[in-house]
Amino acid sequence: MVQTDPEDTHSMAQKTVLIVYAHQSPCSFNSALKDVAVEELEEQGYRVIVSDLYAMDFRANATREDIIGELKNPHLFQYGEETLHAWMEHRLSDDIVAEQRKVEEAELIIFQFPLYWFSVPAIMKGWMDRVLTQGFAFSLEKMYNYGIFKDKKAMLSFTTGATQTMFSPEGINGDINVALWPLQNGTLHFCGFQILAPQIFWSPAFCPDMVRTAMLDGWRARLKGLLKEKPLTFAPCELFDLSFQGGFLLRPDVKKELNSQPYGLTTGHHLGKPLPPDNQIKTQPDESRPKAE
Ligand SMILES: Cc1cc2nc3c(=O)[nH]c(=O)nc-3n(C[C@H](O)[C@H](O)[C@H](O)COP(=O)(O)OP(=O)(O)OC[C@H]3O[C@@H](n4cnc5c(N)ncnc54)[C@H](O)[C@@H]3O)c2cc1C
Repeated sequence: MVQTDPEDTHSMAQKTVLIVYAHQSPCSFNSALKDVAVEELEEQGYRVIVSDLYAMDFRANATREDIIGELKNPHLFQYGEETLHAWMEHRLSDDIVAEQRKVEEAELIIFQFPLYWFSVPAIMKGWMDRVLTQGFAFSLEKMYNYGIFKDKKAMLSFTTGATQTMFSPEGINGDINVALWPLQNGTLHFCGFQILAPQIFWSPAFCPDMVRTAMLDGWRARLKGLLKEKPLTFAPCELFDLSFQGGFLLRPDVKKELNSQPYGLTTGHHLGKPLPPDNQIKTQPDESRPKAE
């Protein structure tokens, strides 16, 4: 694991992976998963940076403290507007800038965390809120497959309390594909990232040690080919009328063409049809990917 060093031109030439990691304990299973990723990726020659959010005491709440100097509108504090200006004028707080530099350097970002309330822990949500600021990570012109980070990859690697069947379409928690849509589409792909299939470790606290060892081995094996994997399928912007007048809706010709398909386009764009199976957890075959024309 390396620290970011602006003078280190040798390491800048190396391909970089950033692991944004959220667990309080170095004895946790999440910590073991993070260590496996660092070890395996370094063995492959990658430069690996870890943002250990609890160890860094990373602040989760998006506040006025994130802006250095005067506010544009002190009467009505609007975080998005103020951070956009602060980003343009190099007035974002040092902790945000340090993370933004890591994002710029990384070819792949792995988010390693225990699932909290169907989502990331608050400290990691805070990282997303504060680091992925407007201007730096997105704009209305640059989103989804036109997004600022379209040449980078991101993935979720997480543990659960629940079992896999509990997160199936018939299980008590409902379909994991639905649970993952906001994070994978709404946050990461919105900023342009190509999303690699998530790595899910089901219920490690309730498994025998042997099973956990097999999980760690499986993760190590996947990491060997991770950066060559095809990303998940999302709906490309070309399928939509990208204007306020057109409501950012699917184009009528596209909608007509999709009428004959048995499934919706993606988990979110289901069009009232059955969800495309495993859309948020498995790479789809090329022929079933929506074409951007
Ligand atoms: C606020 C909150 C909200 C939550 N919401 C959800 C939710 O919405 N859905 C859901 O499914 N779950 C939820 N959970 C449960 C949570 O996701 C799990 O508790 C968590 O994922 C377990 O991961 P861990 O790393 O903390 O496990 P740990 O408890 O750290 O580890 C599990 C076991 O692995 C062992 N271990 C550690 N290292 C190794 C190693 N190298 N090799 C083998 N074994 C090892 C540990 O000793 C332990 O026995 C929630 C929990 C909290 C606190």
